[in-house]
Formats: sequence, structure tokens, C-alpha cells
Amino acid sequence: MNRTFAMTKARQTLRSADDLIAAGLAPAGRRDVLARVAERYALALPAEVSGRINPADSADPIARQFIPDPRELDTLAEENADPIGDDRHSPVEGIVHRYPDRVLLKLTHVCAVYCRFCFRREMIGPHGRGPLSGPALAAALDYIRAHGEIWEVILTGGDPLVLSPRRLKEIVGALAAIDHVKIIRVHTRVPVVAPERVTPALVRALKAKGKATYLVLHANHSHELSPAVRAACARVVDAGIPMLCQSVLLRGVNDDVETLGALMRALVECRIKPYYLHHGDLAPGTAHWRTTIEEGRALMRALHGRLSGLCQPTYVLDIPGGHGKSPIGPCYLTQTRTNGSARYEIEDYLGRRHAYPPAGPSRVRSKSSAPTRSAAR
Ligand code: SF4
Repeated sequence: MNRTFAMTKARQTLRSADDLIAAGLAPAGRRDVLARVAERYALALPAEVSGRINPADSADPIARQFIPDPRELDTLAEENADPIGDDRHSPVEGIVHRYPDRVLLKLTHVCAVYCRFCFRREMIGPHGRGPLSGPALAAALDYIRAHGEIWEVILTGGDPLVLSPRRLKEIVGALAAIDHVKIIRVHTRVPVVAPERVTPALVRALKAKGKATYLVLHANHSHELSPAVRAACARVVDAGIPMLCQSVLLRGVNDDVETLGALMRALVECRIKPYYLHHGDLAPGTAHWRTTIEEGRALMRALHGRLSGLCQPTYVLDIPGGHGKSPIGPCYLTQTRTNGSARYEIEDYLGRRHAYPPAGPSRVRSKSSAPTRSAAR
């Protein structure tokens, strides 16, 4: 690698196979295939990301998530360009109204980094659907105003935090002016891939008087939480914006209990509550990332046996076709029936099973004899 080039590139976003090779992050012999993948699916590694990759480690968890892989060119029959069915629930451009009380508002289809397993990979990037135009945003806001059942608006994309603080402030202000919208949630990868963008001005732009803002980070490995990233997240939390995290279960990145446990603990230490662990979606060219559901459940069971409740995400699957997401276990409760009478068995964190009596009208105590329950558990 040319040292001058590498030093310049270290401060820039890498966007092509040639950039990766020049930065020493891919062998020259793979130029053609990497270029073909990058032509098909967007590529961007900002300096914060490329600088954290250890080129000597063939299993580096940052490199795996962001450097193209020839297997992305293999699409399976069950994979789908819109794996979670956004378009089916889009009444106007930019809005996805899948559940009654909340909508997605997709402001842009650009991201600061492009994850190789992205579930919206056919919609995002320089050749994706582009930003929401002014008239389209006005129509999307009109839709939210006209639907009094919308309690929560989720800003997503792409990554909404690639927009300027001024633009975000305008949009958050417009949402805050809608009486029935009480919650503004922002889904982003920016704090982990471009923490320098999380300025005081950006944090102020996300806050709206009288409304609650939540910021949901996307992170998959504890190596993503560098000191700069932790400081960026602290700026958000210190400003009174609660943070949650969603992670994707990725083969070869976080599909072992030590790695997942370290991620969940690191998040909680940063005052970020693990929210969802997503089973891999059926996005095109992502089969090599997906574990089996049985493997995912076994990992969740192992986490339950080791980590504080604060560190436990919910393992979920987005049902293909746009039917929403559902928890997929594991389940610790079974119901058995002996001589016609039902009873429960509940498994504890060490895997031991315990009987629990069935509830029924005959077992309900009177109000006066019921124990009070006010203490923390
Ligand atoms: S940041 Fe989100 S939308 Fe962008 S590439 Fe990654 S997963 Fe996809």
C-alpha cells in the first residue's frame, strides 16, 4: 500500500474496490469480483470504520460487516428485494404504516456506511430510491396529521442522521406540532460509524418540547463501540434522549454467546438498552449471514443463563410479506396435562424445570386475602 495514499484515504470514505485495495483492506486479486459486488450493492466505509479494521485478522468483525463478499452475488429463490414487505404498507411515498399506532417515515435512502446484510439493500445507496422530496415530505406529514391513531413516528431510511441538524430540526419540529404524535424514534447507525457527526447541534435537533425522543442504535459487535463511539452515545443520553440498540444475528460476526454477551454488556455500560436481536431477513445475497432459528434460540437461552435482565434483547423475526415482527423464543413455559388436569412447567436460568399451578376461577383469592405486590423484583 502506498503510504501517502493510505494516510489520505484513512480520512476519507472508501467507496470502491480500488479504494479497498489501496487501503490494504482487500487483495488486488479480488478487484474484479469486488467491483461487481459494489456495482450491485452500495459500498461505503467511513474513516471511523476502515480505521478500526485489523487487516491481519481474516475474521475481523468490522471488516466482515462492511467489505463486500462474492457470495452477495448469489440470490436464493426465497430471498426478496423487499423482504419485510415495506412497499405493501406504503400509502404515500416515504410512509410505511404496518401497525395501527406507528409509522415509519423514510427521509433518505443514503447511509453513512453500507452493511453487507442490509434488509433494504435494494432501496438504498447512490442508485437507490433517493431522498424524500419537499412535496413528498409534505404529503407524508399530511398523512400523519390525518391519522389520529399514529402515536409514534419512526425516522428511518437509509439513515436519517446523515441529514443536517438544520433539516432534522425542521422535520422533528413539524412532527412535534402534531398533537397525537407523542413519540419520535430515530433509527441510526451514525453514532457507531461516524461519531463525529453526533454534535451538540445534532442532538438538540432531535429534541422536541413536550414529546419523547428515543434513539435506536444499530450495532452488532462490541468492537464497534470505540471510545469515540461511546462518547457520541454519551452526548445523546446526557441530553435526556434514551437509547436502545437493535442488533442482527450474523454468522461469523456475533453467533457465539461470548461475543453476543460482550456486546450486550458493553451496550448497557453505555446506558443503551438492548432492544431487538433480529434473525437475518431474506434479503438478496445474504444467505451466508443467516443462522438457523434453532441456533438463535440456543444463543438466547445461553444469554438468559449468564447475563443481567438489562442485557437481554428480544429475539425477533420480521415475517416475510410485511406481516410485522414477532418474538421467536425461546419459550421457557410448557403446559402439560395429567389425568385431565393441566399444569405448567417453567424452566429457570440454569435449565432446571419447576412445576407451576394452573390459574383458574377456583383459585382466585378474594381481594382482602390477595397479597400486595409493590416491591421491585
Ligand atoms: S445502516 Fe441500516 S439501512 Fe443503512 S445499510 Fe446498514 S442496515 Fe441498511
